Amino acid sequence: MDDEYREREISGMTVGIDRTLCIGSGNCTNLAPEVFVIDQENIVDFQDETPDIDAGRLEEATAICPVDALILTDENGEQIVP
Ligand code: SF4
Repeated sequence: MDDEYREREISGMTVGIDRTLCIGSGNCTNLAPEVFVIDQENIVDFQDETPDIDAGRLEEATAICPVDALILTDENGEQIVP
């Protein structure tokens, strides 16, 4: 995995960010500002501390990405998003 792929365990699931795809639309940061932030390069990154949030909202915040830059995998390793 290269530098532009980031991963965190949040709310019992695995959230991945493929920064090579992100276009900085801000949809995910609007829905889950505790988890996602737009950095100085106008690309999404994780907040320094990423608390567990409501699982439904986490799913919504990842699924809303227009370019499928966010990957959500459940506790069984099953990919939910995209
Ligand atoms: S919704 Fe997708 S394209 Fe928009 S900021 Fe988040 S990761 Fe980037």
